[in-house]
Amino acid sequence: MRSLGADCSLCSVNAATRADIVSQFEAKWLHPAEVKPVPRVHAVWRVVPSSNMEARFQRYKLRVAQAIEAETHDDFDMIDLRNESAFTQDYVEDEYANTRRRFHGTKRMCAIGDTVDNLHPCTHPECSICRIIRTGFRLPDPTDPEAKQRARLGQGIYSTATSSKAHDYTDTSARTRSMLVVKVVAGRVFKRYDTWTEADMLRTAPPDGHDSVLGEVHPDMAADGGSDEGGEEGFVSVPMDAGELHNPLRYDELVVFSEAAVVPAYLVTYQY
Ligand SMILES: [Zn+2]
Repeated sequence: MRSLGADCSLCSVNAATRADIVSQFEAKWLHPAEVKPVPRVHAVWRVVPSSNMEARFQRYKLRVAQAIEAETHDDFDMIDLRNESAFTQDYVEDEYANTRRRFHGTKRMCAIGDTVDNLHPCTHPECSICRIIRTGFRLPDPTDPEAKQRARLGQGIYSTATSSKAHDYTDTSARTRSMLVVKVVAGRVFKRYDTWTEADMLRTAPPDGHDSVLGEVHPDMAADGGSDEGGEEGFVSVPMDAGELHNPLRYDELVVFSEAAVVPAYLVTYQY
């Protein structure tokens, strides 16, 4: 491996880290194999955030950790949720601030991460992966009328524990795909099974006393290999006897409402 300059945005990882990330990627590829076979991971890179981005993240994490520390209730959501499906087998980065390691799929317009010759983010305005690596995550533009339509659980920043779900948001044409592995401060989690109500879509902050919104998969919902992506085909029709659920998710998603709450940590490239 060639030596990389101090200004590199992607760095090589050691064998143990690579194995850890590949294991999470494969274990959380939850779609049925006949619908979406588990891809072969081609490379894992560590994303080096700017010092500003990292400092902002650490400050946010500390604030959330202090808020959690100030809580004295026994019925604390985070503790309850550790026994629930999506969180039980999730990857915990930092228990205290409830920081999770999750996946984020988005558009890529270049070949970053494909080879050692492509380790610098491009400046193409449509290349979301490179923009996130360079400057971090951005909240949706409040003046964008389409943003509301795309959001199920509010105007926040989305990630998922399920790699095969993040895959749905990567490039659709390229054979070599890539997705980000991110660190997200989930903090005190507000859980939703039901989505797509007006109140959910317009939400710009977590409910009082919470730091994030978790779209959890209801135990009655069997994964059928479908997509949760927007559009008519993305939705599941649920029989009336399922009570109040009318747009349940097939796969989990976690939403935070602060740009400081999430940083890119790794880039995974894979053949699909
Ligand atoms: Zn790019």
